Amino acid sequence: MTTRTPSDTPSAPRRDFLAGAAGSAAILALAEPLGMALAADAPSVIVQPPLPYADNALDPVISAHTLGFHYGKHHKAYVDNLNKAIAGTPLADLALEKIITTTAGQADKAGVFNNAAQTWNHTFYWNSLRPNGGGIPPAALKAQIEKDFGSVENLKKELLTAATGQFGSGWAWLVTEGGKLAVTKTGNADLPMTKGQKALLTIDVWEHAYYLDYQNRRADYVTAVLDKLVNWQFAADNLARG
Ligand code: MN
Repeated sequence: MTTRTPSDTPSAPRRDFLAGAAGSAAILALAEPLGMALAADAPSVIVQPPLPYADNALDPVISAHTLGFHYGKHHKAYVDNLNKAIAGTPLADLALEKIITTTAGQADKAGVFNNAAQTWNHTFYWNSLRPNGGGIPPAALKAQIEKDFGSVENLKKELLTAATGQFGSGWAWLVTEGGKLAVTKTGNADLPMTKGQKALLTIDVWEHAYYLDYQNRRADYVTAVLDKLVNWQFAADNLARG
Protein backbone atom coordinates (compact mmCIF):
# COMPACT_ATOMS: atom_id res chain seq x y z
CA MET A 1 0.00 0.00 0.00
CA THR A 2 1.20 3.45 -0.83
CA THR A 3 -1.53 5.03 1.27
CA ARG A 4 -0.15 6.90 4.19
CA THR A 5 -2.26 7.40 7.27
CA PRO A 6 -1.68 9.80 10.11
CA SER A 7 -1.14 6.90 12.47
CA ASP A 8 2.04 6.23 10.52
CA THR A 9 3.42 9.62 11.35
CA PRO A 10 4.41 9.50 15.00
CA SER A 11 6.41 6.30 15.14
CA ALA A 12 8.21 5.78 11.85
CA PRO A 13 9.53 9.33 11.27
CA ARG A 14 10.50 9.60 14.91
CA ARG A 15 12.79 6.59 14.53
CA ASP A 16 14.25 8.12 11.38
CA PHE A 17 14.80 11.34 13.21
CA LEU A 18 16.52 9.65 16.12
CA ALA A 19 18.66 7.57 13.82
CA GLY A 20 19.61 10.64 11.83
CA ALA A 21 20.43 14.16 12.88
CA ALA A 22 20.14 13.77 16.62
CA GLY A 23 21.06 10.13 16.89
CA SER A 24 24.55 10.51 18.21
CA ALA A 25 25.19 10.64 21.92
CA ALA A 26 27.64 13.46 21.31
CA ILE A 27 24.95 15.76 19.90
CA LEU A 28 22.52 14.85 22.67
CA ALA A 29 25.18 15.45 25.31
CA LEU A 30 25.94 18.83 23.78
CA ALA A 31 22.27 19.78 23.51
CA GLU A 32 21.44 18.93 27.11
CA PRO A 33 23.30 21.72 28.97
CA LEU A 34 22.39 24.34 26.36
CA GLY A 35 18.70 23.63 26.92
CA MET A 36 16.06 25.55 25.01
CA ALA A 37 18.45 27.75 23.08
CA LEU A 38 19.69 24.81 21.05
CA ALA A 39 16.47 22.81 21.25
CA ALA A 40 14.64 25.56 19.41
CA ASP A 41 16.89 24.97 16.42
CA ALA A 42 16.83 21.18 16.69
CA PRO A 43 14.88 19.05 14.18
CA SER A 44 11.19 18.49 14.97
CA VAL A 45 10.06 15.40 16.83
CA ILE A 46 6.70 15.22 15.05
CA VAL A 47 7.50 15.08 11.35
CA GLN A 48 5.30 16.46 8.55
CA PRO A 49 4.87 13.56 6.12
CA PRO A 50 5.55 14.36 2.47
CA LEU A 51 2.55 15.03 0.24
CA PRO A 52 1.39 11.72 -1.30
CA TYR A 53 1.55 13.34 -4.80
CA ALA A 54 3.29 16.22 -6.58
CA ASP A 55 2.07 19.70 -5.65
CA ASN A 56 0.61 20.19 -9.16
CA ALA A 57 -1.04 16.75 -9.28
CA LEU A 58 -4.48 18.05 -8.24
CA ASP A 59 -4.46 20.88 -10.77
CA PRO A 60 -6.78 22.44 -11.90
CA VAL A 61 -9.25 21.48 -9.14
CA ILE A 62 -6.70 22.51 -6.50
CA SER A 63 -3.81 24.46 -7.99
CA ALA A 64 -0.14 24.02 -7.20
CA HIS A 65 -0.30 27.58 -5.88
CA THR A 66 -2.91 26.61 -3.29
CA LEU A 67 -1.22 23.33 -2.45
CA GLY A 68 2.17 25.01 -2.09
CA PHE A 69 0.83 27.45 0.50
CA HIS A 70 -1.49 24.96 2.17
CA TYR A 71 1.07 22.20 2.64
CA GLY A 72 4.24 24.28 2.69
CA LYS A 73 3.05 27.13 4.92
CA HIS A 74 -0.17 26.28 6.77
CA HIS A 75 0.34 22.59 7.51
CA LYS A 76 4.04 23.11 8.18
CA ALA A 77 3.27 25.91 10.65
CA TYR A 78 0.97 23.62 12.66
CA VAL A 79 3.71 21.00 12.84
CA ASP A 80 6.38 23.54 13.77
CA ASN A 81 4.18 25.18 16.42
CA LEU A 82 3.28 21.79 17.87
CA ASN A 83 6.94 20.84 18.20
CA LYS A 84 7.73 24.16 19.89
CA ALA A 85 4.82 23.71 22.30
CA ILE A 86 5.69 20.16 23.39
CA ALA A 87 9.49 20.54 23.49
CA GLY A 88 10.78 19.65 26.92
CA THR A 89 7.36 18.54 28.21
CA PRO A 90 6.03 15.01 28.83
CA LEU A 91 3.86 15.41 25.71
CA ALA A 92 7.02 15.22 23.58
CA ASP A 93 7.21 11.50 24.37
CA LEU A 94 3.72 10.75 23.01
CA ALA A 95 2.56 9.75 19.55
CA LEU A 96 0.55 12.41 17.70
CA GLU A 97 -2.85 10.77 18.25
CA LYS A 98 -2.10 10.40 21.96
CA ILE A 99 -1.16 14.09 22.19
CA ILE A 100 -4.54 14.93 20.64
CA THR A 101 -6.62 12.73 22.94
CA THR A 102 -4.62 13.77 26.00
CA THR A 103 -5.09 17.51 25.46
CA ALA A 104 -8.65 17.52 24.05
CA GLY A 105 -11.09 19.57 26.12
CA GLN A 106 -8.40 21.06 28.38
CA ALA A 107 -8.53 24.84 28.24
CA ASP A 108 -4.91 25.26 29.33
CA LYS A 109 -3.75 22.87 26.56
CA ALA A 110 -5.80 24.42 23.75
CA GLY A 111 -2.73 25.60 21.86
CA VAL A 112 -1.15 22.16 21.83
CA PHE A 113 -4.46 20.49 20.95
CA ASN A 114 -5.17 22.87 18.06
CA ASN A 115 -1.74 22.43 16.48
CA ALA A 116 -1.68 18.66 17.05
CA ALA A 117 -5.18 18.18 15.65
CA GLN A 118 -4.42 20.40 12.64
CA THR A 119 -1.22 18.42 12.05
CA TRP A 120 -3.28 15.20 11.99
CA ASN A 121 -6.23 16.67 10.06
CA HIS A 122 -4.06 17.90 7.20
CA THR A 123 -2.20 14.63 6.75
CA PHE A 124 -5.61 12.92 6.69
CA TYR A 125 -6.90 15.49 4.18
CA TRP A 126 -3.98 15.01 1.75
CA ASN A 127 -4.77 11.31 1.75
CA SER A 128 -8.49 11.96 1.29
CA LEU A 129 -7.63 13.42 -2.13
CA ARG A 130 -5.91 11.95 -5.14
CA PRO A 131 -5.32 12.84 -8.78
CA ASN A 132 -8.18 11.45 -10.93
CA GLY A 133 -10.25 10.75 -7.84
CA GLY A 134 -14.02 10.77 -7.52
CA GLY A 135 -16.01 8.21 -9.50
CA ILE A 136 -17.45 5.06 -8.01
CA PRO A 137 -16.27 3.87 -4.56
CA PRO A 138 -14.85 0.33 -4.15
CA ALA A 139 -17.62 -2.29 -3.86
CA ALA A 140 -17.65 -2.87 -0.09
CA LEU A 141 -17.68 0.86 0.68
CA LYS A 142 -20.29 1.50 -2.01
CA ALA A 143 -22.56 -1.14 -0.49
CA GLN A 144 -22.20 0.42 2.96
CA ILE A 145 -22.89 3.91 1.53
CA GLU A 146 -26.04 2.65 -0.21
CA LYS A 147 -27.17 1.00 3.02
CA ASP A 148 -26.67 4.10 5.16
CA PHE A 149 -27.32 6.95 2.68
CA GLY A 150 -29.37 5.37 -0.10
CA SER A 151 -26.83 6.26 -2.79
CA VAL A 152 -23.36 7.70 -3.37
CA GLU A 153 -25.03 10.83 -4.75
CA ASN A 154 -26.94 11.27 -1.49
CA LEU A 155 -23.72 10.94 0.50
CA LYS A 156 -22.06 13.56 -1.70
CA LYS A 157 -25.03 15.89 -1.13
CA GLU A 158 -24.74 15.41 2.63
CA LEU A 159 -21.00 16.11 2.52
CA LEU A 160 -21.63 19.27 0.50
CA THR A 161 -24.32 20.38 2.96
CA ALA A 162 -21.98 19.76 5.91
CA ALA A 163 -19.09 21.56 4.20
CA THR A 164 -21.13 24.62 3.23
CA GLY A 165 -23.07 24.61 6.49
CA GLN A 166 -19.94 24.78 8.65
CA PHE A 167 -19.92 28.41 9.81
CA GLY A 168 -16.37 29.71 9.58
CA SER A 169 -13.33 27.45 9.53
CA GLY A 170 -13.53 23.71 9.92
CA TRP A 171 -13.87 20.31 8.32
CA ALA A 172 -16.51 18.04 6.76
CA TRP A 173 -16.13 14.33 7.47
CA LEU A 174 -17.33 10.88 6.54
CA VAL A 175 -17.07 8.82 9.72
CA THR A 176 -18.22 5.56 11.22
CA GLU A 177 -20.03 5.60 14.53
CA GLY A 178 -21.62 2.57 16.13
CA GLY A 179 -21.11 0.51 12.97
CA LYS A 180 -22.87 3.04 10.70
CA LEU A 181 -21.52 5.62 8.28
CA ALA A 182 -22.31 9.23 9.13
CA VAL A 183 -21.48 12.71 7.85
CA THR A 184 -20.32 15.29 10.37
CA LYS A 185 -18.71 18.69 10.47
CA THR A 186 -16.28 20.14 13.00
CA GLY A 187 -15.14 23.69 13.72
CA ASN A 188 -11.55 24.92 13.62
CA ALA A 189 -9.19 22.06 14.60
CA ASP A 190 -11.83 19.74 16.07
CA LEU A 191 -11.93 16.17 14.80
CA PRO A 192 -13.92 12.92 15.09
CA MET A 193 -11.42 10.90 17.15
CA THR A 194 -12.35 12.79 20.34
CA LYS A 195 -16.07 12.10 19.79
CA GLY A 196 -16.10 8.32 19.60
CA GLN A 197 -16.09 8.41 15.81
CA LYS A 198 -13.63 6.99 13.30
CA ALA A 199 -12.75 9.24 10.37
CA LEU A 200 -12.89 7.75 6.87
CA LEU A 201 -12.53 10.90 4.76
CA THR A 202 -12.31 14.66 5.22
CA ILE A 203 -12.59 17.93 3.31
CA ASP A 204 -10.84 21.03 4.62
CA VAL A 205 -13.19 24.02 4.50
CA TRP A 206 -10.85 26.59 6.01
CA GLU A 207 -10.61 29.47 3.52
CA HIS A 208 -6.89 28.79 3.01
CA ALA A 209 -7.91 25.47 1.38
CA TYR A 210 -9.71 27.14 -1.53
CA TYR A 211 -9.57 30.92 -1.51
CA LEU A 212 -6.74 31.33 -4.04
CA ASP A 213 -8.61 29.14 -6.54
CA TYR A 214 -12.29 29.73 -5.71
CA GLN A 215 -12.34 32.93 -3.58
CA ASN A 216 -15.61 32.80 -1.61
CA ARG A 217 -17.16 29.95 -3.63
CA ARG A 218 -16.78 27.16 -1.07
CA ALA A 219 -19.57 25.08 -2.64
CA ASP A 220 -17.79 25.07 -6.01
CA TYR A 221 -14.56 23.88 -4.36
CA VAL A 222 -16.32 21.12 -2.42
CA THR A 223 -18.33 19.98 -5.44
CA ALA A 224 -15.18 19.80 -7.58
CA VAL A 225 -13.34 17.86 -4.87
CA LEU A 226 -16.20 15.37 -4.51
CA ASP A 227 -16.48 14.87 -8.27
CA LYS A 228 -12.81 14.83 -9.23
CA LEU A 229 -10.44 14.33 -6.31
CA VAL A 230 -12.07 12.41 -3.50
CA ASN A 231 -10.07 9.28 -2.67
CA TRP A 232 -12.72 6.61 -2.09
CA GLN A 233 -10.02 3.95 -1.83
CA PHE A 234 -8.58 5.72 1.22
CA ALA A 235 -12.04 5.76 2.82
CA ALA A 236 -12.53 2.08 1.95
CA ASP A 237 -9.16 1.19 3.49
CA ASN A 238 -10.06 3.09 6.68
CA LEU A 239 -13.45 1.33 6.80
CA ALA A 240 -11.83 -2.08 6.33
CA ARG A 241 -9.43 -1.40 9.21
CA GLY A 242 -12.52 -1.04 11.39
MN1 MN B 1 -6.02 23.58 5.94
